Amino acid sequence: MVHDPLPAEEIIGKKRHETLANLPHRQGQRTGDTAISIARPLPEYLVRRYAGWKATTYAENKGWYKRLAEEGQRPRAMVISCCDSRVHVTSIFGADQGEFFIHRNVANLVPPYAPDTDHHGTSAAVEYAVTTLKVSHLIVLGHSGCGGVQGCYDMCSGAAPELNEESSFVGRWMDILRPGYERLPSGETDMRLRALEKEGVLVSLENLMGFPFVAAAVEDGSLSLHGLWNDIGEGGLEAYDADAEGFVGI
Ligand SMILES: [Zn+2]
Repeated sequence: MVHDPLPAEEIIGKKRHETLANLPHRQGQRTGDTAISIARPLPEYLVRRYAGWKATTYAENKGWYKRLAEEGQRPRAMVISCCDSRVHVTSIFGADQGEFFIHRNVANLVPPYAPDTDHHGTSAAVEYAVTTLKVSHLIVLGHSGCGGVQGCYDMCSGAAPELNEESSFVGRWMDILRPGYERLPSGETDMRLRALEKEGVLVSLENLMGFPFVAAAVEDGSLSLHGLWNDIGEGGLEAYDADAEGFVGI
């Protein structure tokens, strides 16, 4: 799949700054009739991309899309992957719409089971996939060069004190991976970072088993858990092998 190069100036350059500068100054909650006045039309390059998709991929598979709309989704697998734009689970498995129930978050982490009254997006996605969609496979997909994992490493090693601030959403989210940091072998930083990326997958698998409905589905054989790690540059894929107690290439 080849796209036109992204016009970077529309994303991070002058145009964006001008657009933001022109927005009405808003603080706190929206009020009354101001509604969502900050929303702007889609950038032209995305409009063009959408029109291309509608005229080709959609047009050629219209029946499939209609069927998906009428019958609803019945994905066999849930994938929890990183927000990183380079991680592309549907590409590496050649998957179409309707095949994967995908949840993405920073560093593909599953938090511990915590049925309090806070908002838990990842836990909600897992609950829906397992109890309503009844997926057969739940895959946690880690990857090389993960910025979230790097942040956790820096935070835990004292190199990023700002991530220890209570107000850091990234820092508090990456606290989930602290047990993985504690288990790291000593050695070179690059090796430890790669090991921490894989620890993130394992910590998530451990946390998943703390959800009663996940544990019950695993125990009755209707759900299997899988831990994967994707080497982006090499196109590699490794899976955690419980017998080998490590990740092995696929
Ligand atoms: Zn990542």
